[in-house]
Amino acid sequence: MPDNEAANRRLIAQVNAFEKPMRELTDAQLRDKTREFRERLAQGEQLDGLLPEAYAVVREADLRTVGKFPYENQVLAAIVMHRGDIAAMKTGEGKSLTATLPLYLNALTGRGAMLVTVNGYLARRDAEEFRPVFELLGLRLAIGVQEAGAPDFSTQEKKAIYAADVIYTTSDKVGFDYLLENLAGTSEEKYLRPFNYVLIDEADAILLDLAQMPLVISGSPRVQSNLYPLADAFVATLRDGVEYEYDESTGVVGLTDDGIAAGNRFFRTGNLYAPEYFQLNRHINLALRARTGFKPMRDYMVLGGSLVLLSSVTGRLLEGNKLQGGLHQAIEGREGLEITTENRAMASVTYQHLFLMFDRMGGMTGTAKGAEKELLRTYGTALVEIPTFRPVIRVDEPDVVVQTLDEKERLVLDYLEEVRHTGRPILLTTSSVASSVRFSQHLLDRGIEHNLLNALSEAKEAEMVREAGRAGAITVATLIAGRGTDIKVEADAKELGGLVIIGTEKFPNQRIEGQIRGRAGRQGDPGSSRFYASMEDDLFVRFGSIKPEKVRAKRRSARSMRRLLDRAQFTSEESASGARKLSKDFEVAMARQRDLVYAVRDEIIGGEPVTERDVAGLAADVFAEAVAAGAGDSPGALMRYVFDNLTYRLPPDFDSVDTGDRAQVRAFLEATFARAVQEKRDTLADPAVYARFQNIVFLKSIDVAWIEQVDFLEQLKTVVQDRNMAQHKVEYEYRREAFTAFEEMKRRVDRDIVRLLSLSRIERGADGGLILQFA
Ligand code: ADP
Ligand code: MG
Repeated sequence: MPDNEAANRRLIAQVNAFEKPMRELTDAQLRDKTREFRERLAQGEQLDGLLPEAYAVVREADLRTVGKFPYENQVLAAIVMHRGDIAAMKTGEGKSLTATLPLYLNALTGRGAMLVTVNGYLARRDAEEFRPVFELLGLRLAIGVQEAGAPDFSTQEKKAIYAADVIYTTSDKVGFDYLLENLAGTSEEKYLRPFNYVLIDEADAILLDLAQMPLVISGSPRVQSNLYPLADAFVATLRDGVEYEYDESTGVVGLTDDGIAAGNRFFRTGNLYAPEYFQLNRHINLALRARTGFKPMRDYMVLGGSLVLLSSVTGRLLEGNKLQGGLHQAIEGREGLEITTENRAMASVTYQHLFLMFDRMGGMTGTAKGAEKELLRTYGTALVEIPTFRPVIRVDEPDVVVQTLDEKERLVLDYLEEVRHTGRPILLTTSSVASSVRFSQHLLDRGIEHNLLNALSEAKEAEMVREAGRAGAITVATLIAGRGTDIKVEADAKELGGLVIIGTEKFPNQRIEGQIRGRAGRQGDPGSSRFYASMEDDLFVRFGSIKPEKVRAKRRSARSMRRLLDRAQFTSEESASGARKLSKDFEVAMARQRDLVYAVRDEIIGGEPVTERDVAGLAADVFAEAVAAGAGDSPGALMRYVFDNLTYRLPPDFDSVDTGDRAQVRAFLEATFARAVQEKRDTLADPAVYARFQNIVFLKSIDVAWIEQVDFLEQLKTVVQDRNMAQHKVEYEYRREAFTAFEEMKRRVDRDIVRLLSLSRIERGADGGLILQFA
């Protein structure tokens, strides 16, 4: 906290000064402070000005309800979080308690404060623990995420949740609710309030590791494609470095000129890159990516004949999840599985965009070291290191690096045996499910009892992690399995030396290694950590500078291996950061369109009346475009156009139109349209009912076109990424094509509006209600 250090100190002193006065208040008086603060806000005071007293109120409420009084360092972290920055607080320093301070302060405005975590279990757990704090202070707390397996909340329930003062929920729940709401047809179906304040727990996981994976709502299935097996058959004939080039570190893969020529021969296409082969192209690219970038057991497993993904972050089985944009089907094609239906993407958003929609975003995390610049660039948030309450006395031992996987595994197991005899609890961390299973098997072979944490339910996992601090406990876990749950080291285990962390691999970045080490030595506990790495680790295979088959060719010194591994880790982080940047660039283009469309929808849903003149002008443009494209060049063409777009009865003045005169044709179409619309007005009699009909037509036209567009944009990502270009070029291409498609989409919306307004049939039902039949 370099620049604000003095200011922060002053603020903390002010908070402290309110400690005694607050202690003397009765519960009722303490609660009344909320009313008083709100009044002061109404009279123009600012949140920043209320902070010292408000924080003192929450501290007191924390003490009275959960029996814990936030320390000064926690107050400091809470100041950082209110300011809209990220507080780096080591594991076990009490982030959950700290969160109550900025949440209360920001909820005072009445515009809602949200805490988001990585999973529903943690959201519910923290909400239940701190509910009494907010209730004592007269605020309403709601849990935004349903219990595992329970159906989604109803619209009514969501309205109540999002109207609460403080909401505990998960990042993807907020994202999906945002997307779902924008598929609503009426204002009664809306439930969100404008996004105000959000506090993100485990901020580095959400804002970095999971940031670019878009949340997608899938709609109707796409027409089933039979190109997957065919494209895979073609790709199977290609050679790396000859017909295609694959860059392991960026994941970019594309055909070379030889590859394109091979494609033209295989598919008998003159020019594979011609627009009419968009789909074929897309399938070839998907097949290439499926064959190069995805490995069984690392990225997915085949279970009972179907493809199940593994999370690269947690190593969890992602049952029910599917890769987007056809990649899932491409891997199914490669594995010879039955191709499942590919659903259209109807709506999508990434966290990168979602959280920037809040007026203010604060965060907390165990460590985000090394990612400061990226966080600042992407989210405008600074990372502020909070000193620990007690000094960290954990011993971080130097890495042990060896040449081969076998050597490494043997050393890991020997070390584990050695520690085991001391009785200290052990947490063995791996980067993938496959590797955790392998270690678990080795332990079984040696007759060593242990717990294996992967792909289990979050609640069960938390349970096992809690037990991981007992003397003699051995736990094998993937990366962040059980993250967010404290490992409490029991007294006898502390005596013995505390928790021992064994890292079994070089991980993708230092930040993750820091998170893993941080599980030991919390709150001044004793503990130690040691990492093992080999040049056959996944990370080195992907990002290292020596080909896997050459690794064993020569003995290397520990120092040189360490350097090579560090460099591979650096490359890995660079590449992940580059991928996030690209995804953000994509998202910016998509978000601009999405914001426009959602704003127009909101206007329509809000009942904004469309004037007659707007509609006539819109129709005139549509006709001008159609006529320019030749719709009125002959009586036959004109008749076709009229029947398809305006009326099922030939207008009486049709014969008198001179199809050679485009101005005349346009006037005829405009008049025909005006008549069709007038007929509808007459049928409906009530202008308010007509206005509603018109709004429905607008909404339907927009939705149909926008859903196509979202789907197209998702597909476009795959297509442009594999064109084997420099990254800035990829982004440019994406933006260019996305823009062109959006312009085309807008024209399509207008065409649909004209068609639906003219051709829809309106009838009165037996009960006097209206029945709409869309053309
Ligand atoms: P983190 O999320 O930072 O890893 P937690 O929020 O899980 O840490 O808190 C770790 C433990 O410390 C919890 O048992 C919590 O109740 C306790 N704790 C946090 N702050 C305080 C405090 N001010 N006084 C007493 N106990 C605290
Ligand atoms: Mg926590």
